[in-house]
Amino acid sequence: MAKVNENLLSLGGRYLFSEIAARTGKFTAAHPEVRLIRMGIGDVTRPLVPSVIRAMHAAVEDCASAETFRGYGPEHGYDFLREAIVRTDYAGTGIDIDEVFVSDGAKSDTGNFGDLLSRDNLIGIPDPVYPVYADTGSIAGRPLRYIPCNEGNGFCGDIPSERLDAVWLCYPNNPTGAVISREKLARWVRYALENECLILYDSAYEAFIRDADIPHSIYEIPGAKECAVEFRSFSKTAGFTGVRCGYTVVPKDLKIRSANGRKISLNPLWERRQSCKFNGASYISQRGAEAVYSPQGRLEIREVIDAYLETASLIRRTFLEAGLTPCGGNNSPYIWARCPHGMSSWEFFDFLLARAGVVITPGAGFGAEGEGWFRTTAFASREATLEAMNRMKDIIK
Ligand SMILES: *Cc1c(COP(=O)(O)O)cnc(C)c1O
Repeated sequence: MAKVNENLLSLGGRYLFSEIAARTGKFTAAHPEVRLIRMGIGDVTRPLVPSVIRAMHAAVEDCASAETFRGYGPEHGYDFLREAIVRTDYAGTGIDIDEVFVSDGAKSDTGNFGDLLSRDNLIGIPDPVYPVYADTGSIAGRPLRYIPCNEGNGFCGDIPSERLDAVWLCYPNNPTGAVISREKLARWVRYALENECLILYDSAYEAFIRDADIPHSIYEIPGAKECAVEFRSFSKTAGFTGVRCGYTVVPKDLKIRSANGRKISLNPLWERRQSCKFNGASYISQRGAEAVYSPQGRLEIREVIDAYLETASLIRRTFLEAGLTPCGGNNSPYIWARCPHGMSSWEFFDFLLARAGVVITPGAGFGAEGEGWFRTTAFASREATLEAMNRMKDIIK
C-alpha cells in the first residue's frame, strides 16, 4: 500500500476559515434577521476593468479561427506579457525579460519555489503570516524559524542574529498591512548577502503602495539581484483572483550552493522546474494581464485600487477615533488592530458577531503573534463598510 507524506498529516485541517464559517453559520441560523457584514474577506469584489475585458474577448476570438488559435504557449509565459512587465514594473532595475516567469498566480509560485531548495534548509517565516509559506515548508519537512512581527518592531520582523538559509518577506503585508521602509529592506538585503541567505519576496500588494518613499520592488535595493526572488500577482492588482495570472522574477545573478559547495544559478533551475510541472498560464489570462499595462488599463486599475484604499482609510479612521492603534490601511487593503477591552482574537470575533453582526478575521489564525489582534479588509463595498463602521464604532471604544 502507498504510504502517505506524514508531513501533510501533521499540518492538520484548515482551521481558520472553516472555524469562521462554522461560527458565522451558527449565528445566522439563530439570528436570521441580522444582516451580516463580512469584513474578513481576502478576495477582491470589484469587476475586471473594461480594458481587460476587451483584451480577453479579443483573445477568445483569436482562439476561434485556425490562423490565430493558440494551444500550448511557452511555460514561462508569452513575450508580449513578459515585455510589458519588464518595461513597466521593472523600468530602471535592469531586470531582463528572461528573468520573468509568468504563472497562474503567486500562491502556486510561492508554494512551488521550495522545489528548488534542499530539504534541510532553515527557513525564516514571519509571524503572523500568509499561511502558504509555512504550510508548504512543513509539507516538505523543512525546519522553520518564526520571526515575530509585532507592534514593538512596527510589524517588520527584526533581522535575525542566526544564519537562515532562506527567508520569506511580504510587503505590503498580509495580514498586518505593514509596509517596509527602503532602509529596513536594504538591511535585509545586506543580511542576505553576508549570510548567503535567499530572500523570497512576496509583493502581491505592490499596486496599493501610494507613499513615494516605499519601495515597490526589492530590486530597487542594490545587491538584491544576487539574493532575492520576487513574486507578483495580478490578483489584487487587477482583480484576477478568478482569472489567474501572476509572475515570478528570478534574476540570472542569483545563485545558491550545491551540496559540494558549487554555486548554482536559480534562473535555469526554475525554468527547468516549471517546464517539467507546469504548462503555462492561459493565453486569454495573459492577454488580459497585458491590457493592465496599456495606458488606459493602468488608469482603470488605479481607480479600482484607489476605491479600495478609500474604504481602507475609512476603516483606519474609525479605529483611530475609537482609540485603537491600527497598522495598515495606507498602502494596503488590510487593517490590523488590537482587539479592544483586552479580548483574545476569538473572543472579539464572537463579541463583534453577536453585538454588531460583523465578521472579521481573528489574528490568532495567522500565527502566535496574532493573538489579541484582528484583521479587517477593505474589499467590501463602501456602503457595507460604512454600515459596519457605524455598528462597530461605539462598541470598540
Ligand atoms: C492574495 C495573495 C497572493 C496572490 O495569490 P494568487 O495565487 O496570485 O491569487 C500572494 N501572496 C499573498 C500574501 C496574498 O495575500
